[in-house]
Amino acid sequence: MPAISSGNPPAVSERPTRIVVDLDHLAFNLRSIRAHVGVPVMGIVKANAYGHGLVPVALHLQAQGVEQLGVAFVEEGIALRQAGVTAPVLVMGGIFGPQVAQFIAHDLEITVSSLDKLRQVEAAAEAMGRKAVIHLKIDTGMERVGVHSYSARPFIEAAVASKWCVLKGIYSHLACSDDPSSPMTGQQTERFLEACAHIERMGAPMPIRHLANSGGVLHFPETWLDMVRPGIVLYGVQPDPASHRTVAVKPVMSLASQVVYFKVVKAGNTVSYGATWKADHDTRVVTVPIGYGDGYPRALSSRGDVLIRGARHPIVGRVCMDQFMVDIGQGSAWNEDEVVLIGAQGDQAITVEDLAQLAGVIPYEILVGLNDRIPREYRGGVSA
Ligand SMILES: *Cc1c(COP(=O)(O)O)cnc(C)c1O
Repeated sequence: MPAISSGNPPAVSERPTRIVVDLDHLAFNLRSIRAHVGVPVMGIVKANAYGHGLVPVALHLQAQGVEQLGVAFVEEGIALRQAGVTAPVLVMGGIFGPQVAQFIAHDLEITVSSLDKLRQVEAAAEAMGRKAVIHLKIDTGMERVGVHSYSARPFIEAAVASKWCVLKGIYSHLACSDDPSSPMTGQQTERFLEACAHIERMGAPMPIRHLANSGGVLHFPETWLDMVRPGIVLYGVQPDPASHRTVAVKPVMSLASQVVYFKVVKAGNTVSYGATWKADHDTRVVTVPIGYGDGYPRALSSRGDVLIRGARHPIVGRVCMDQFMVDIGQGSAWNEDEVVLIGAQGDQAITVEDLAQLAGVIPYEILVGLNDRIPREYRGGVSA
């Protein structure tokens, strides 16, 4: 299947700065996760598929036979349906009553996180004469949304008895799964299974039980249950520097630009806003046309590196909104030379995890921060 032909990938603009999304790596990661856990996968594509492009990523996962997709907001789910995505889509965020009709109209699965919300969903479904497909959200320690596991029984009973809701799933979310040694995950799993056991005791059919995010997939087999919900690891990035690399994955995103300007900065002169970096000898400095206005973190000012002609060079001075400067020392660079910000060049590589550590943020923030000002280009994925 031509995986992205109807996916409306953004036209490749003239802009020399671009994100390249490797759909073959995405498919590899999905296969790798599947083989590791041995249960169906809900591919998480919220937040523009972690910066990789919501629709092309979702269509490719669908072409690869992903069992289910997950997003955060109903708007993201509607965008998927409008783009022709037909796979089951769960909206994981808390819902607002007035939106329920939209879920049902677009065939989106609803997270029901309280008895009140169950009643709202039932009312909307009855008014439309169309059943709603729901997943119950149990709070086992995250304290975000969901009915507390210790008081979930009446909630579960009402959902099982509901005439207008199809109980497809029951789930919870892990708070500490990035940390392989945290006892929290075991406690959350126990609480979740105890809530699920109530359904069994009622003699009702067990819906799909799902609990594991990427950290759960990597570290905690007892959380895999009937389906897993990986986000970041699907994109080939570890949730935390301390994560155990138990699943072989390849980075899906790379980010590159080109040298737009070259000059020599004389000893004693400073570079960029605030004059925070000073050349202590004459040195060659190039300018790269990407900045925090694209989501490249300003925290990488005088901290990050880039690759030019196979060599690693430091960013000097503050990252501006649209540009930053790089000290290439005695190296050479020409206008239009490729500058790799994320990815490999020669025998060097810069990972999202590296950038996150340097910027003092989590890898998620680097990925989702890269915004739509940067064109995305999709490689692979189409069978020849
Ligand atoms: C975002 C999210 C995930 C995926 O998390 P990763 O750490 O990226 O794997 C899974 N489940 C829920 C409920 C989420 O909100």
